[in-house]
Amino acid sequence: MNFDGSALAVAGVRTLEPYRPGKPVEALEREYGVVDAVKLASNENPLGAGAAAIAALRGLEQVLGRYPDGSGYVLKQALARHLDVAAGQLTLGNGSNDVLDLLARAYAGPGEEVVYSAHAFAVYAIVTRAVGATPVVVPAVAWGHDLDAMQRAVTARTRIVFVANPNNPTGTRLGASDLAAFVAALPEHVIVVVDEAYFEYVDAPDHPDCIQWIERHPNLVVTRTFSKIHGLAALRIGYGVAHESVADVLNRVRQPFNVGTAGLLAATAALADADHVQRSRAVNAAGLAQLQTGLQALGLDVIPSCANFIAFDTARDAAPIYEALLRRGVIVRPIANYGMPRHLRVTVGLPAENERFLAALGAVLVR
Ligand SMILES: *Cc1c(COP(=O)(O)O)cnc(C)c1O
Repeated sequence: MNFDGSALAVAGVRTLEPYRPGKPVEALEREYGVVDAVKLASNENPLGAGAAAIAALRGLEQVLGRYPDGSGYVLKQALARHLDVAAGQLTLGNGSNDVLDLLARAYAGPGEEVVYSAHAFAVYAIVTRAVGATPVVVPAVAWGHDLDAMQRAVTARTRIVFVANPNNPTGTRLGASDLAAFVAALPEHVIVVVDEAYFEYVDAPDHPDCIQWIERHPNLVVTRTFSKIHGLAALRIGYGVAHESVADVLNRVRQPFNVGTAGLLAATAALADADHVQRSRAVNAAGLAQLQTGLQALGLDVIPSCANFIAFDTARDAAPIYEALLRRGVIVRPIANYGMPRHLRVTVGLPAENERFLAALGAVLVR
């Protein structure tokens, strides 16, 4: 029997590396026999979901037999008000990753090019290759997007440009004037996707809210998510904001029930829960400072971050350090698959979790 299902796959998929998620706490406890593990590996909100989102799930058992509202009417109305856009500009996704996938399926195909930066979010490569398009990966500057080089990489064959702002896993960000000039310089046959999964964490005066630019640049699409600051990663819900004609295209290729009832209910409540967002932002700002100071005290170089995670240079192969941290019950994220084999990425946790990580790392580094 030498049947090989991989050989039958379309060309882009044959050599595709699967997404490598952060190790779940239960997996670590099972595999390493540790108890009381801390997971700082998937940029999750350490406060979890807010009270309003949890309350919105009461009564869910009554409707489990029904399909969700495939149009997402209530959530779209709430988002439209919250973002000051038309409901027709919105596409809901099973996580914003789903929206990235819809964009690739609707706008790129074999022989066409998709441009993104080195060290950018792994899903751009997955969705690009899955549709048979050609990835054009532009080298980074100081771990961030090199917008000039990305602009030069655009050709007549380019269909999509992905920009993560802030970027994961590096935590780097682009200011309003640089990004605005970039978007304005791109030809209209290119769909420009600005992935704003961490938008709500950034508090820099020059940070752009790219949704404001869609009216001026109808080829611009902005994606956001309920997985990060809203603490709803388990429910898989995110969205895209676009020109109505683009949203219409995405809604054509979307699976009819791609977002479940739990996600719709919880997200609608989470959107109105400004307190939880505010508290999450405050916990994150303090934790980011705690991690940055602690890492620097260990003599490590960090990449300055404005998101809910920070990448740092271990100054050696990071894999054994990742392993040693696991044995101490601390899960962080190795990012060798992002072309960063000496770095690790740690998510901001609660103060005690951050401290536990810093203490474990300190112990691992002196050994
Ligand atoms: C976490 C993340 C997402 C969002 O993922 P979901 O599918 O919404 O959970 C999107 N883009 C980036 C850069 C991310 O880090």
